[in-house]
Amino acid sequence: MAKLTKMDDIVSLCKRRGFIFQSSEIYGGLASCYDYGPLGVELKNNIKKAWWKSVVQMRDDVVGLDCSILMHPLVWKASGHADHFSDLVAECRKCNTRTRVDQLKDAPGGAAAGPAGAGDLGGKVCPSCGTAGNFTQPMPFKLMFETSMGANREDAMTLYLRPETAQGIFANFRNVLDTTRVKIPFGIAQIGKSFRNEVTTKAFIFRTREFEQAELEFFCEPGTDENWFGHWKEQRFNWYLDLGIKKENLRFREHEKDELAHYAKGCADIEYLFPFGSGDWQELEGIANRTDYDLRQHQRGIRTSNSWQESKGDLSKVTLREEEADYMKGPLSYYDEEKKGRYIPYVIEPSAGIDRSTLAFLVDAYDEEEVRGETRNVLRFSPALAPVKAGIFPLTNKEGMPQTARNLYNSLRGRFNCFYDEKGAIGRRYRRQDEAGTPFCITVDGQTAQDQAVTVRERDSMVQTRVALDQVKNYLSEKLGL
Ligand code: ATP
Repeated sequence: MAKLTKMDDIVSLCKRRGFIFQSSEIYGGLASCYDYGPLGVELKNNIKKAWWKSVVQMRDDVVGLDCSILMHPLVWKASGHADHFSDLVAECRKCNTRTRVDQLKDAPGGAAAGPAGAGDLGGKVCPSCGTAGNFTQPMPFKLMFETSMGANREDAMTLYLRPETAQGIFANFRNVLDTTRVKIPFGIAQIGKSFRNEVTTKAFIFRTREFEQAELEFFCEPGTDENWFGHWKEQRFNWYLDLGIKKENLRFREHEKDELAHYAKGCADIEYLFPFGSGDWQELEGIANRTDYDLRQHQRGIRTSNSWQESKGDLSKVTLREEEADYMKGPLSYYDEEKKGRYIPYVIEPSAGIDRSTLAFLVDAYDEEEVRGETRNVLRFSPALAPVKAGIFPLTNKEGMPQTARNLYNSLRGRFNCFYDEKGAIGRRYRRQDEAGTPFCITVDGQTAQDQAVTVRERDSMVQTRVALDQVKNYLSEKLGL
């Protein structure tokens, strides 16, 4: 049997301990969709909370938003997604598998390996059947999921499930300006589900068709964009480090000029070294300088779709200069009271994937070590992310120990997510919490009734400390920093 890889071990632990399950598993499973179990949902919620705290709560210049997934189809027309959000795919003529052209790997032996006539793909190999260079011409494949809205078939409207959360922010830019005291520079942040009919899905929750994103659109004055781009790169990189990701597993990759979207002035990916194969640097988050592209596109969109257009007559006759002057009066422009001038703000966008970072946090925390001849699996989560902060156990089910342990549990659970367990040998109960990533285990034993103290065992060092019952809450707050 082939040796299990680190990824196999993590996937198996996730299933065994209730972090992540395959969707619809009882019906054979639905490819590339996953469900978060009791521990997984706590972990994922903690990651979202940590993002929100750092990006919204701790800042004076960012506000939050929660938009609907379904939006007016013109939003996607204006943003460019309706016409351009597709991947270039090629189909293998032998097994009919479609693969993203940018993800095809070189055949051993390079360009000479494939038969003639396969265009640029002559030297590429089908990841499914291994045939070299036998592909159809590359063609665009639309990534947005369609659905329809309305009870009557005749007037039902075709809508898209959003492929990113960002457009809901742009569409609400004016609402936020008009209803809050924000002034540029400021940002609007959102966490929510996005959907993409990905051609190839990959590696567990790394690339799925339904996923969660955490996005910030930070609006600033043109000319100040480079500074804010640098600021957000640093902030976002440090966020992963502060939550425990090892420095050697994290890096920046600046996009080359020819890789950039035509409107983007700069883009840097934060990459994580995932244990796929022999190690694979893959994007965790993208940080882009999107210039004023999105707000301009929506200004143009609303202009061509409503009464504004009627008042202007034939738009094709409007000169560029007139158009520019018009933009400056449009609802998505910004009047800077201090500078007494109008402009369309530039946007810096840090866009992170919650599921993808959940995988990175799991992988980075995962450890196996030998303890007295046995393998101990441990998830060394940072305290803020750990799904359960403390396990509380009576050593045995005698002499009032369960009652004391329950009382302690009840006094702590309002403050920290705790877990009470009175079954099985104490060593096994510790191991179960190690695998769940629980930083502390607290045991009520035979001595507790005499000394009013309990044993607190620390996950990583396994060191045990005697702590007075009435000091446990303070002890945990201090050690967890929460
Ligand atoms: P790729 O080129 O790998 O398809 P992308 O560059 O299109 O990804 P973005 O549109 O920049 O990705 O999305 C921002 C973030 O959202 C990504 O860094 C990633 O963390 C997350 N993300 C995007 N697509 C998926 C997906 N299918 N599954 C899980 N997370 C995703």
